[in-house]
Amino acid sequence: MKLPVLFVGHGSPMNALEDNEFSHQWEQIGKELPRPDAILCVSAHWLTRGTAITAMERPRTIHDFGGFPPELYQVSYPAPGNPALAERVRELLASPSTDTSGLEAGVEVRLDHGWGLDHGTWSVLRRMYPKADIPAIQLSIDVVKPANWHLSLASSLKKLREEGVLIVASGNIVHNLGMIAWDRMDGSGFGFDWALEFDADIAGSIQAGDDQSIIHWEKLGKAARLAVPTMDHFLPLLYALGTRESTDKVRTFNAKPVAGSLTMTSYWWE
Ligand code: ZN
Repeated sequence: MKLPVLFVGHGSPMNALEDNEFSHQWEQIGKELPRPDAILCVSAHWLTRGTAITAMERPRTIHDFGGFPPELYQVSYPAPGNPALAERVRELLASPSTDTSGLEAGVEVRLDHGWGLDHGTWSVLRRMYPKADIPAIQLSIDVVKPANWHLSLASSLKKLREEGVLIVASGNIVHNLGMIAWDRMDGSGFGFDWALEFDADIAGSIQAGDDQSIIHWEKLGKAARLAVPTMDHFLPLLYALGTRESTDKVRTFNAKPVAGSLTMTSYWWE
């Protein structure tokens, strides 16, 4: 059996606690997915130089945000780690197979014992798998590498889908916190024109299987500059694209803007 690949728009950390349409959808997805043996998450919130993978037995819950209510800091997501899977990822990336990857040489991956699960991971997994009984590990994003490198790296991880691993890439297609419309936080689904335009352009490329347009998203001009002011929340998408097969069908969920300058648009390939 081959597991699906998800790209999840995570949005506000409060989605970990709030009962809203997004968190309900995550709960629904957790019930619908075949139960994985382990989860590999690529979160927008773990950016490094070089690539690292969490390799501890008991990853801590990281509250990597400020200015939220105290109950959010009390959330713990005690899913176990999976050091053997971390080693497997290290191995796969050390010698990428040339038929599935564009990488010319292996990538050295650092086994990490200091990170844990950040909110890009646990805000979503807490709703999908509330029992926290599926081992979860995180792969970091090397911020100095170009977009096509991330796509190639991810393609070396395709095999994991046949090894019981659910790959969850967690970011946001449109993510511009500096332009949040604070007066439109009402859940009505308001999006600025440029946010809707960029989200729709990327959706079109995803439906068409056109990875090249996605890698060169900056060619979408002004809408792209506003939607992706920094690459952190967009790059996880490349990890989902890299691990999907050309024969996979894609389905969209939570396709809705929030407060003007965020979109929650999420994808499921299988
Ligand atoms: Zn985030």
